[in-house]
Amino acid sequence: MRKNIVAGNWKMNKTLQEGVALAKELKDALSGAKPNCEVVIAPPFIHLASVAEAVKGSVVKVAAQNCSDKESGAYTGEVSPAMVVSTGASHVILGHSERRSYYGETNAVVKAKVDAAIGNGLNPIVCVGEVLEERENGKFFDVVSAQVKESLFHLDASAFGKVVIAYEPVWAIGTGKTATAEQAQEMHAFIRNLIAEKYGSEVAENTSILYGGSCKPSNAKELFANKDVDGGLIGGASLKAADFMGIITAF
Ligand code: PEP
Repeated sequence: MRKNIVAGNWKMNKTLQEGVALAKELKDALSGAKPNCEVVIAPPFIHLASVAEAVKGSVVKVAAQNCSDKESGAYTGEVSPAMVVSTGASHVILGHSERRSYYGETNAVVKAKVDAAIGNGLNPIVCVGEVLEERENGKFFDVVSAQVKESLFHLDASAFGKVVIAYEPVWAIGTGKTATAEQAQEMHAFIRNLIAEKYGSEVAENTSILYGGSCKPSNAKELFANKDVDGGLIGGASLKAADFMGIITAF
């Protein structure tokens, strides 16, 4: 059966020392606990090795927030999937809406990064989601369907099994405006159905689909109670151990 996952995306926040302190706080808060979900944190690249070391021996896993689609070479400023793996990280967030909107990442770019990540043994957490205009003009199913198909449906079933999907309506990210539990469930069921049509119902049932967008301790329980919502990708509320713990314990 699929896993429940709560993943924290720290974005461009925290110095190295602050990040390590937060990771240790989280490790301490979880020590002796048996959370009903997998816990992942995604610090900035330069924190990865230190944060992975800080959470060693705990249930906390580590993710990068991005990686290159290239293996190595003259790509100044880029970080390869093998480099991410070498820090101790097991996951990578790909196709986040901020990468799509500020850095021009298209579905084709996300597809290439997914291949590079999986080829190096990383589990990609692939973000999809519509902007406000697409929600309001009723295009949201078409947009999300294209994102899922164009970035993931070239994979064979075994490679697809490594993928976690995060549905993040862009209008809900960092805005304090959360999708209703019904809106989240409706889209998650739609995505699961797309997967079932392509890979069969067993693969679909085994795929974790996370919700992201202003998820916090006060609304996590209601969102996670939905049958097709398997956890959350958390931005702002992952920057304080107490808030993040409040979401983890919503399961
Ligand atoms: C995100 O950026 O992935 C996110 C969900 O952010 P926030 O929780 O702050 O809306």
